[in-house]
Amino acid sequence: MPIRQLPQSLINKIAAGEVIERPASVVKELMENAVDAGAKRIDVTVRGGGAEMIRVVDTGCGIPPEQLPLALASHATSKLVEVDDLFRVGTLGFRGEALASIAEVSRLVLRSRTAESDSGAEIEVTGGKAGEVVPCGCPVGTLVEVHNLFFNTPVRRKFLRTTQTEFGHVSEAFTRIALAVPGVHFTLQHNQRQVFELAASDDWRGRIERFFGRDLAENLIPVESVDDQVRLSGYVANPSHSRSNNRMQYLFLNGRHIRDRSLQHALGEAYRGLLMTGRYPIVFLRLDMPPEAVDVNVHPTKLEVRFQDSGRLYSQLLSTLRGKFLTTDLTPHVQTATEVDPTGGHDEARATELRQELVDWAKGEVASWDMASRADSPPASRAAFDAGQSPANRQPLELTRLDRGWAAPGGDGTGAPDASDGSGHPARRPDPNQRTTPALQVHNRYLVAETDEGVTIIDQHALHERILYEQLRERVNAGVIETQNLLVPEPVDLSGPEAAAALEHRELLAQLGMKIEPFGGDTVLVSGYPAMLANIRPAEVLHELLERLLSGSGRPERHEVLDELLHAIACKAAIKAGDRLSPEEITALLEQRNLVADPHHCPHGRPTALVFTREELDKQFKRI
Ligand code: ADP
Ligand code: MG
Repeated sequence: MPIRQLPQSLINKIAAGEVIERPASVVKELMENAVDAGAKRIDVTVRGGGAEMIRVVDTGCGIPPEQLPLALASHATSKLVEVDDLFRVGTLGFRGEALASIAEVSRLVLRSRTAESDSGAEIEVTGGKAGEVVPCGCPVGTLVEVHNLFFNTPVRRKFLRTTQTEFGHVSEAFTRIALAVPGVHFTLQHNQRQVFELAASDDWRGRIERFFGRDLAENLIPVESVDDQVRLSGYVANPSHSRSNNRMQYLFLNGRHIRDRSLQHALGEAYRGLLMTGRYPIVFLRLDMPPEAVDVNVHPTKLEVRFQDSGRLYSQLLSTLRGKFLTTDLTPHVQTATEVDPTGGHDEARATELRQELVDWAKGEVASWDMASRADSPPASRAAFDAGQSPANRQPLELTRLDRGWAAPGGDGTGAPDASDGSGHPARRPDPNQRTTPALQVHNRYLVAETDEGVTIIDQHALHERILYEQLRERVNAGVIETQNLLVPEPVDLSGPEAAAALEHRELLAQLGMKIEPFGGDTVLVSGYPAMLANIRPAEVLHELLERLLSGSGRPERHEVLDELLHAIACKAAIKAGDRLSPEEITALLEQRNLVADPHHCPHGRPTALVFTREELDKQFKRI
């Protein structure tokens, strides 16, 4: 086939494919332009997750009318003048292709006015075809409106996910930029709903709190260090606050949000020994350095950069954090049920406001709640929840811990534990006449038991987790999962992507007994949650499930996602390594072991027990 020069519009579409992946990419580019223009206020409005419409209005320097067509042309920028500028980029943009790319795959309106001019001008481009520049009245600054993204690239359009998911990404893009420049006033609106209004401020922790809540903000440790070129500053979370993925590691290089594997590794090292395996630290860190010490032109969306001396930066980050931890009291602060803040850690006024909204909401809705499943929920755990805030009424931990499961498959199916003696304690008691094989608990985590074959060493957590997982799976498959309904639904503040995932997977979560409703902003109301987790805060349960949903992107099949969530619930509900068990609990656990299909592996595939046969022992002791 002959080689041909591609037409410009095709070149632009190819370029657009690299930079503009989804509505959130448009939001990112337009917001970056507004920041580069020196805006003090930036208003972002989206409709339909951004696929329908995105509007970004700023109070920046504006563009003179005669330059409007140029702003939309590809490879046209005001941010680089000579070649060397590329190696000392001080602005967020510099390639001059964002507006051209967006205009190629949408209908774009650009309206702008500079301070020197009494009126503004406007230009409209549809699928890369620009109209005339026409005068119009508008305030100083720039407005860009993007309609019908990907209308002429149907394949891209087809790849868009639900409105909620796309908005989740938009919200994340917004968060990254609004975190990077706290000195700018930002608003975000979606489908007529005001999602954020953030006043300009020099209090970075305050802005972090607006996005992630007071509980986290109060557990941030300030860090700072200055190497001869690099200033590192910001906050790292107390190890009591961590995540199951690294999405909450916000790094800002000269005001640009970046990801960097090497620095993420340094964070992992700094927290080594402070976090359980599989947990990731939460950080908000700024790196400020001369622009020439870093190449930002290595990634299509500039998310990754190349540092001149990344080894040195790695050590600086590691030693700064390590040094800080050495001088900080990191003793875990154990929260008992009495200390749990039912508002999820928000200020008093907001809490009262939410309560009132809830009461109003409940008045209208309470009758339609699922009374049937409420009647089903075990009396013991309902009492545990109702009385959960008062220490005197707290459930004794002992036997109830193992009752987080249900009657064995084929039981009465009401979902109540074997509470046949009316005391709320299970009937599953060791029969004094039956010789029960005693097991010894060692290090509060392993059970050592004599068996016919020899000796078995059981991992108490892994075994209990397996038992609960199987019971739960059976119930979910049969559609008879128990929900612990809440008398007053609990509002839970989420991040944008979490809220999107929660609403997108609402039905799936309901299948597991987790009932949620949208409640404005990124807040959802939890009206019921899995009865098995009655002893754990609903907000904590929800966060855990959402983390699994968000980190499980490689497992698209519904049943796989469901399975992942079952694991999460079983793991949370199971007794932990470190829990001291009473003799009755040990017996109960060992009895249940015989009821599960695969007692030998925990749901993650780790063994639950090791067996040493008598023969093996005899051999080792050189008896045979
Ligand atoms: P880049 O940001 O890489 O320069 P863009 O395509 O995003 O490329 O923008 C092209 C040019 O249009 C910018 O260099 C800038 O001069 C101008 N421009 C774009 N958006 C704005 C804005 N909101 N305010 C002022 N000027 C803008
Ligand atoms: Mg730009």
